[in-house]
Amino acid sequence: MTRDPIADLRRIAFLLERANEATYRVRAFRSAASALAALPAAEVAQRARAGKLTELAGVGDVTARCVAESLAGEEPVYLRRLLATEGTDLDAEASRLRAALRGDCHTHSDWSDGGSPIEEMALAAVELGHEYLVLTDHSPRLKVARGLTADRLRRQLDHVAQLNEALPEGFRILTGIEVDILADGSLDQEEELLARLDVVVGSVHSGLNDDRAKMTRRMLTAVANPHLDILGHCTGRMVSSRPAGVTGPGDRGHRARTRPESDFDADAVFAACVENRTAVEINSRPERQDPPKRLIRRALEAGCLFAIDTDAHAPGQLDWQRFGCERAARCGVPADRVINTWTATDLTAWTTP
Ligand SMILES: [Zn+2]
Ligand SMILES: [Zn+2]
Repeated sequence: MTRDPIADLRRIAFLLERANEATYRVRAFRSAASALAALPAAEVAQRARAGKLTELAGVGDVTARCVAESLAGEEPVYLRRLLATEGTDLDAEASRLRAALRGDCHTHSDWSDGGSPIEEMALAAVELGHEYLVLTDHSPRLKVARGLTADRLRRQLDHVAQLNEALPEGFRILTGIEVDILADGSLDQEEELLARLDVVVGSVHSGLNDDRAKMTRRMLTAVANPHLDILGHCTGRMVSSRPAGVTGPGDRGHRARTRPESDFDADAVFAACVENRTAVEINSRPERQDPPKRLIRRALEAGCLFAIDTDAHAPGQLDWQRFGCERAARCGVPADRVINTWTATDLTAWTTP
C-alpha cells in the first residue's frame, strides 16, 4: 500500500496549525512539502532510499523521517500522534492528567538550593491534595546549589523520618535525590545511599555541550545504573530566562540563560529507559519545558514511562504540574504511563530493584 508523503506532510502542518503550535514547526512541514512537490516522485523515492532527503533545502531530520515512513506505506509516527489527540479536548485531557497525579517526584528544599524548609514544602503538597512528595535535593558536586554530602543526606533522612511522624495521615515525604550524572555517566552519591532512597532522579548539570557520542554514552551509562529511577530534564535546555514573578533564593541552582538542547541519540537513550525501567521526566518548569514535545512523542512511541514533575524550589511552584500536564496531553501521554499517578506504595515497589 502506498501513501502520498506530501499529503502526509501537509496534513501534519494542518493539524499543528489547528492546535496552535509554534509557527516555525508548522513551517518545517510546509517547506518540506513544497520542496518535495517540486521534484518528480521517483526522485523523492530515490533520495529517501539513499538517505539524501535532508540535502534538500527545507527538509530536516523530522520531516525526512516522516517521508521515509510514508513511502514505506506506514502512517508517519508524527502524524499518528497528532491524530491520536485530534478531536480531544486538550484542556480537559490536561485536567484529567493533573487530577490523576498523586504526588511529585522532583522537589528541592533549603537543604540545597530551594527556598523553604522541607516541612513547608510538605504542607503545601498536602494542600494541593498530594499523597506524597519526593524530596530530591542536589548531590555533592553541584556546589553552587549546596549539594548534600553523604553525611548531610544521612542527616536529612533522619529528619524526614521525624517529619513523617508528624504529618497528616495518608501523606508521606518520600526520600530521594537529584543526583548529578557525572562526565563518565556515574552517579554523584554513595551507592549505599542511592540504594536506601525511595526515588533517584538523575540529571546532567555539567558538560552540557558534550558532543553527541560522549553525551549519549554518558546518559546510557546512567540509565543502566539500577539505582536510577527517573531521568531528569534530559536535554538541559532553557527556553527562557527566569519565569515572570519568580525571584529570590528559591531558584539559585536554576538561574537561567537560554540554553540549547544538549545533543544525544534520543532513540538510543529512550530505548535504554524502557529496558532499564527508567522513567523520563516531563519537567514542568516554565523556563525548562524539558523534554521538548517532539522528544516526549518519541519517548512515548518507544514505550517509556514518564514522571510529570515540578522541580519546585519553593512551595508555590509545586502547583506548576499543570504546565507539564498540558505538554503531556498535547503529546497524547496517557495517565497509566505516568508513574506519579501511582500510589506511594506502588511507586516505591517499582523503584526497588
Ligand atoms: Zn536539575
Ligand atoms: Zn531539580
